[in-house]
Order: sequence, then structure tokens, then C-alpha cells
Amino acid sequence: MPLRPFAALSLAAALLAPAAFAQAPAEGVEVRKPWLRLVPESMVNQTAAQQYAQMKQQAQAKGRLNPDPAQTQRVRAIAVRLIPQGERFHPGARDWRWEVNVVESPAVNAFVLPGGKIMVYSGLIERLKLTDDELAAIVGHEIAHALLEHGRARMSEALVKNVGIGVAAAYFGLGDLGTAALAQAADLAITLPYSRSHETDADLVGIELAARAGYDPRAAISVWQKMAQVGGAQPPELLSTHPANASRIRELEEAMPRVLPLYQAAGR
Ligand SMILES: [Zn+2]
Repeated sequence: MPLRPFAALSLAAALLAPAAFAQAPAEGVEVRKPWLRLVPESMVNQTAAQQYAQMKQQAQAKGRLNPDPAQTQRVRAIAVRLIPQGERFHPGARDWRWEVNVVESPAVNAFVLPGGKIMVYSGLIERLKLTDDELAAIVGHEIAHALLEHGRARMSEALVKNVGIGVAAAYFGLGDLGTAALAQAADLAITLPYSRSHETDADLVGIELAARAGYDPRAAISVWQKMAQVGGAQPPELLSTHPANASRIRELEEAMPRVLPLYQAAGR
């Protein structure tokens, strides 16, 4: 059954709408990037949970999953303060099964999978000699990627590229969407400056989470400075998934006035 044009339009609008957090808060950051939400969140999170379980099993088999209980406890204690601050960015995230684990590895790395599955590499903590505030900056940035559903966006984008949006829409039961709206959706997903905008948004939301949880958001600046200094024969792996450039630190500095009052109000 073809959708009425109006219904097709509003469905397309729902797919492309900025997330519900777009109302400008009095304080705090704003992120307003429209993106493609073709693949259902439940499907994305389920796939990610399976991937994460496999990664944990592999690390466990090598004796590298959380070998230092104090270190794992330290990262989890920080995450536990940050995660509740994320509700304003993604209310559904309170129902996720968040997980935070540390894998023993010299790699300077950390990542999050959709649905709040976080992995921190011991090399990140040890080689960068991270303070709690700096660790909160990294973990907050990763939590932000999950809250903003960047994994889902990338999956949707890849799907569109690989099979075409018509096949994808049919597969997910979206029916007979207006062709023009679909073409626009595909165009947006492919032409938006994706990874850079995701990084900016994750930086902004990350410092707000940190500030609200009582961690000094200025640590986000020092952590990226440290990252740039590691370099050498083995540059930080984190940089391959989190491209950094000179504008990153400037953007963080510009956003500080919006989050420093939150940090002061948190009064830790
Ligand atoms: Zn990132």
C-alpha cells in the first residue's frame, strides 16, 4: 500500500530529524546534526552486543581482560558518574546494558560500540599517564558517541551505500517511502562531513557529561595535547578512529564557557 504523500514526508522527516535533544539548553552544548536512522536501534545494539561479547572472550582467553582489578575499578567508577548525565542526550540510554572493561594492551586506544559497550586499553591510561579528569574526558567522549548513536548512523550509511536505500527500506519494513525523500536521505548520509562532525559532537557532549559529573572539562584539551605528543614509531591507535586536527583543541576551548559553569555547579 503506497503511503499518502503527507505520511511519506513525515516519515522521512522522522528519519532525518535532529535528535530530541536539539532544544537549546540554557547552559551546555548543542549538537544539531541530522543523520540517517534507517537501521532500527534495537538491531544495531544487538549486533554490537554480540561483537563486544566476542571481543571480551578473545581478551579473556589471553588473560588480558581486566587483569588489574584496581585499574578496572577506577575506569568504571568514572563511567558510573558520567553515564547518568547522558539522559538529556538520549533518554533511552538508561535502559541500555552499559559495560566498561579494560583490556591489557600497549595500544593507546579506547572505543565504544552502540548500546554503551566501552573498552579502554591499559596503554591509554599508562602511556598517557591520565589523571581522573583526563580519563573522564576520554570515557565521556566515547559515551557521547554511543548516546548520539554514531555507530547506528555509520551502519545506516554503509547499508545505503552497499545495497541501496530502496532495498534497505523494504528490508526494514518502511514500505513505500517517497523516492525523492529517499534520494535526499541517501544524499545527506553520503555528502555530510561525517566523521569530523561526529568527532566535534562527541567532544562537545563529552565535556558536558564530564562537567556535570564534576570532572574538570578542561582536561579534554590536555588529553588531546598528550595524544599528539605520543607519536613516534607507534602513534596512538585512538587517532585512527578519532581523527584529530588543529581545530579540535580550538573548538574545545571555544566550548569551555558553556560547560565550566556546569562544572562549578557540580561542586566536587
Ligand atoms: Zn571520537
